Amino acid sequence: MSKLPSLPGKVWLVGAGPGDPDLLTLRAARLIMRAGLIVHDGLVDPAILALAGAKARLVSVAKSRSRHTLQQDEINALLVREALAGNEVVRLKGGDPFIFGRGGEEAEACRAAGVPVEVVPGISAAIGAAAAAQMPLTHRRSASIVSFVAGQCKGLSEQDWTGLAGKGRTLVIYMGLATADAIAEKLIADGLAPDVPVAVVENATRPGMRVLRSPLAGLGDLVARNKVKSPALIVIGEVAAESADEPLKTLALEALQ
Ligand code: SAH
Repeated sequence: MSKLPSLPGKVWLVGAGPGDPDLLTLRAARLIMRAGLIVHDGLVDPAILALAGAKARLVSVAKSRSRHTLQQDEINALLVREALAGNEVVRLKGGDPFIFGRGGEEAEACRAAGVPVEVVPGISAAIGAAAAAQMPLTHRRSASIVSFVAGQCKGLSEQDWTGLAGKGRTLVIYMGLATADAIAEKLIADGLAPDVPVAVVENATRPGMRVLRSPLAGLGDLVARNKVKSPALIVIGEVAAESADEPLKTLALEALQ
């Protein structure tokens, strides 16, 4: 640590929200507009990156299920290195940095290296999708508990999902497309009724957003038949049927864009 410059820079862990640039916080928008260096995920919408100044350096650290450009520890090292060189780094992440964004690990790495770090919250995909689809995640009639779960293979096998879905509860699954079929099977095996309503929200708040509905037992089929692509969320529970009598909602939303 003897090489520490007297004035280290700073890392801002900034939530970019679910896609629509209008859903950025004012703080996030200001930081993006004045940033010299933006290190961003693949999920950050190009319309948001377009807010950056002409001189800003944009570094993509996009990850995907099969292809990793940079491993997480390399991303941590990049943030720390740039900040120790005196730079202010805007680390821009889809949704909220602390919901399935590994923002916690990045904040830890900064603190461990003595780099000042600040977190700017963002609208998480579940919140954005619920608003855009007019699907309340809680409702006095049908749900007073909401859980966010990671549905990728690790989350599926290592987490205990018992009790997260069912009467009075809404379960929102992030990163669950590839395992949608297995998720439905697991929940039904745990005792959930096969006809519990499910909604899949693809590209929430973005152009081309789709809301697809089915009973739980048909989830895998719904995803396959409609060729649903990432990013998408799966919402399981009575609220998933809340706006089912207004199927034109998504069309109306598209027409606005
Ligand atoms: N930190 C992010 C989540 C990162 S995990 C947040 O708070 O939203 C990435 C997953 O988020 C995707 O696989 C998808 O399940 C979900 N997601 C992100 N943006 C989305 C969008 N616009 N529409 C639907 N799902 C989205």
